[in-house]
Amino acid sequence: MAVSPKLLEILRCPECVRESDDAGELTLVKGVWLVCQTCERKYPIRDDIPVMLIDEGTRWQNTPVAALPDTPPEPAS
Ligand SMILES: [Zn+2]
Repeated sequence: MAVSPKLLEILRCPECVRESDDAGELTLVKGVWLVCQTCERKYPIRDDIPVMLIDEGTRWQNTPVAALPDTPPEPAS
């Protein structure tokens, strides 16, 4: 069961949404990443649950979409 389109519609990048309600729209990539259209942070979806943590998104901010792994790695410990 993938993340529902309804959920994706309301989810926003937690960093960008602080600036503006219209910012931080997310695009689903490879079925397991949510890429912020505003800041390019990338949030992994683990076990169908989007991990909307700014630290996690920042970890992948400078990784090109094409270079994202097909399955999100385990969280940094
Ligand atoms: Zn953002």
